[in-house]
Amino acid sequence: MSIPEAVLRFGTHLLWPAACPFCGALGVPACVTCLLPLLAPPLPADLGSLTLEAGGIHEGVLRDLVLELKYGRNRPLGVAMGHALGRIFPRPLCDILVPVPLHADSGRGYNQSQALAEGISREWGVPVADGLQWNGLRAAQTSLEEGERRSMPAGAILPRGKQLEGKRAVIVDDVSTTGTTLLRAAEAAALGGGKAVLALAWTIAPKA
Ligand SMILES: [Zn+2]
Repeated sequence: MSIPEAVLRFGTHLLWPAACPFCGALGVPACVTCLLPLLAPPLPADLGSLTLEAGGIHEGVLRDLVLELKYGRNRPLGVAMGHALGRIFPRPLCDILVPVPLHADSGRGYNQSQALAEGISREWGVPVADGLQWNGLRAAQTSLEEGERRSMPAGAILPRGKQLEGKRAVIVDDVSTTGTTLLRAAEAAALGGGKAVLALAWTIAPKA
C-alpha cells in the first residue's frame, strides 16, 4: 500500500461510523434512500460505440463514498451504492452485469466494481457475471495509474470464460475518467461473443 493510500484509508475509517453516515441508522453502511438524493446524474456521455451513464460528478460526498468503498474496502457500502444506481436508472434491455475486473497488481484483492454490480443486480434482477480479465501480457507493459489510462492499448482487457457469449452486457465501473477502460471492456465483451449495451459508473471524473 502506498503512503497516500494508507493515509486515505486511515482518514476515511475515522469518518465512517458503523451506521448510515447520513441519517444515523444502525446496522447499515448507508441507506439506499439516503444515497438517492445525493445522486445527480450528468447527461449520458457518448464514448463512441458506448453510452456511459453515471450517478454524478466525482467530487464532494460522491467522491468520499468511492474512497471509502475502495480504500476502506467497504463492500456492503458498495452494494448499497449500486442499489441506489439501479434505482435511478431504468433497467435497459440486458442479460448480465459485468464489472470492470480488478487489476492484478492493484494489491487490493477485492473488486469494488463487483460490489456496485451486485447492488444494481438487486434492483434490476439481472445477474452479475465476472466475465472479463486483464490481459497479463499487456498489463506488464502498461502502467494503469489514473490519468495514464487513455494510452491503454487495445486488447488490454479480455473475455474470461464463455460468460459473455450471446449476452447483452452492462459494464459497471466505480469511477470513469476517460472512458478508455470501459471501451476496452466493451471490446472484450464483443471478443467474447457478447455485446456491451451500456456502461454504468458511480461517478465521472472530469478530464484533466
Ligand atoms: Zn440513512
